[in-house]
Amino acid sequence: MSYVAVRIAVHDPATAAERRQNAAHGASRGSVPGTMQAPKGRKQTPHLQILAGPCAARMLATCLVLSFAWITCARQKSPDTPQTVSSTLLPATMNSDDPAPKPSINSSRAMQYVRDVVAFGPRPIGSPNHKKLETYITSHLKGVPVEDDAFIAETPEGKFPVRNIIAKFPGTRDGIIVIAGHYDTNYPLRNTGYVGANDGGSSTAILLELANQLRGKKRDGYSVWLLWTDGEEAVKQWSATDSLYGTRHLAEKWQKDGTLKKIKAFLLTDMIGDADLNIEQDMNSTPWLENVVLQAATRLGYQSHFFGRSIPVEDDHLPFVHMGVPSADLIDLDYGYNNVFHHTPQDTLDKLSPQSLEIVGSVLMETVRLLDKM
Ligand SMILES: [Zn+2]
Repeated sequence: MSYVAVRIAVHDPATAAERRQNAAHGASRGSVPGTMQAPKGRKQTPHLQILAGPCAARMLATCLVLSFAWITCARQKSPDTPQTVSSTLLPATMNSDDPAPKPSINSSRAMQYVRDVVAFGPRPIGSPNHKKLETYITSHLKGVPVEDDAFIAETPEGKFPVRNIIAKFPGTRDGIIVIAGHYDTNYPLRNTGYVGANDGGSSTAILLELANQLRGKKRDGYSVWLLWTDGEEAVKQWSATDSLYGTRHLAEKWQKDGTLKKIKAFLLTDMIGDADLNIEQDMNSTPWLENVVLQAATRLGYQSHFFGRSIPVEDDHLPFVHMGVPSADLIDLDYGYNNVFHHTPQDTLDKLSPQSLEIVGSVLMETVRLLDKM
């Protein structure tokens, strides 16, 4: 899962436009978090927009609730927003006339992966079910070069084995695109029947389906590495040291061995199975890379599911963001009204849809294609 920092997220349409404009001109690695802050001098208070249209009541109610929680509803989600976005953001070479075939994610197969994963039960680090899932993942990667980053993590609940699993699909171009998602489930809820269908299940499954998309094909572009991260969840209470065990270890390892500087983009997925899919614009992600994601979504006609709200998210991308790797977290933190299912035993299969997996999987594949051309 991931964590929304409790701080005020100020939205200003002009600021967002400026940000996208800057992004379109290609901000470089390491320029990230600073540019995501509201400019100095702007009033640091949440504001509500005047809403119109059929979903206005729900949006207004959401905004009120979120404002109370010091999280601002960032952008009005209305039918005309996508047109505005596409006409101002998309360079001519990346518009909807692009003849390249669109990705064909097998959504029913992806959904079956979620069912299989959930059937293992709770999958917190150190558990037998976690071990079974490790075997399940690697058994679906036969014929693919797989690397492990396995170590023992020191946590407030003692020592745990942690294992990041990396499947490598080599390309012709120098550089790596990492697509990641965590497979462990919440540790404190381990005895509540919590199965993390969305939080842990959906990210595990979409990566398995992406492996099917990439397997056996010659990649005319960057190498793509699929990364099942482990120990994402806190064992006691979310903090800088109790969370992100796997990615903190891996980012450091890749910095030491020189891998990190080859990574052109780190794309993270988390909680992407919600039938009511609303991918956040994460203020901790890299603006130009989010812009590429939005271009990909727009080309596929999925833009209404993306970036309707701007919030800062703490998730597995942070260790990479902090080391200057361009990163984008695709996460939906509006899981049920006001995120009510998140980290509860209600995070179950019936809340998910194959279509949401298809949307995110396709946008990821399209994002990779656009990055290959850049
Ligand atoms: Zn979680």
